[in-house]
Amino acid sequence: MYPLTCPDGSPHTMPDNIVDQADDAVVCSKCGIRQSEYDTSSKKQGAIVDALTVLILGDPVLVAEVLRKGMDVLHRTKQQDFIRMLSFFIKNMTDMSVDPRNAAAIDWCKRVSELDCRLPRI
Ligand SMILES: [Zn+2]
Repeated sequence: MYPLTCPDGSPHTMPDNIVDQADDAVVCSKCGIRQSEYDTSSKKQGAIVDALTVLILGDPVLVAEVLRKGMDVLHRTKQQDFIRMLSFFIKNMTDMSVDPRNAAAIDWCKRVSELDCRLPRI
């Protein structure tokens, strides 16, 4: 998955006047990402944000149960991939700005991030 911004956080700089419509022709002048990669990435990231919204707005016990049942039908390697992704997510959460509304969550993420989270892909 490609980032929605250049590595420095600024928006990608795609050319305004596109003469050559070839896939490789439309490239960010700062970071080099191709427009087609960016488009695919932004759609995937939008879908992830939409799914996250559904997860957050649902009853946490029910959401957890549905996720657990969904895991039952996945390949065990994919189950481990999901938990690995969660470990990355939890580690990334430790960089969030903190105020009283999320302080307990960030503190929890920091404590969990101290665990050995090596989850090999088998
Ligand atoms: Zn860029």
